[in-house]
Amino acid sequence: APQHSRDDTQAEAPKKFPKGVVLGADGKPCRSCTSVASWAAMIKQQTKNPSTIAKSTPPAVSTSSIEPPDGCPPDVEQLGRSSWTLLHSITATYPVRPSQELQHETAKFLSTFSKLYPCWTCAEDFQRWLAVDTNAPRVSSRDEFGRWMCEAHNEVNVKLGKEKFDCNRWEERWRTGWKD
Ligand code: FAD
Repeated sequence: APQHSRDDTQAEAPKKFPKGVVLGADGKPCRSCTSVASWAAMIKQQTKNPSTIAKSTPPAVSTSSIEPPDGCPPDVEQLGRSSWTLLHSITATYPVRPSQELQHETAKFLSTFSKLYPCWTCAEDFQRWLAVDTNAPRVSSRDEFGRWMCEAHNEVNVKLGKEKFDCNRWEERWRTGWKD
């Protein structure tokens, strides 16, 4: 078994991989858990030219300006942006007064989503957060659901050292467009 895999508490791979590279359950680097910058550093390391590697290894911190090349699998950031776009857009089209059945289905969807999310380290944290009573999905109206999703997103923003988004403006960002 790998030293650091999805069953361990530590997310990052052992020293032979550059900082920021996360392993999956199969013991191989997990692409959807790793930024494209760390992935590129790993590929460079594998070129077996240590002097070049030492000079050019990029930082493992968030590097939103770097995108995976077109047609390549998503890195942790591209996957995240696309996922939040989908999730917030779902809240934007959610009924103002949803049926009991839809509310139930929505809560189920979020639970399943948290288990299937391709970045396993992200998924585990999200599941842990969802399991706290006060964080249970609020799906009784569009506004409740939109604000709840904003709070869920803010939780990740804070974890990653990013600024919190003003949840009073979730609808402008994701449904109506900004008021001028
Ligand atoms: P994103 O955070 O992707 O945001 C996209 C856009 O949404 C922003 O440009 C902004 O306009 C808007 N926005 C920002 N915050 C809010 C908000 N609170 N409410 C409404 N709109 C908002 N990445 C990791 O590295 N580690 C993790 O553990 C991790 N966990 C994640 C868990 C989940 C469930 C998801 C969906 C993603 C996770 N990510 C994680 C990805 C991470 O949240 C970002 O998507 C990624 O870092 C790219 O960030 P970004 O700065 O481009 O903007």
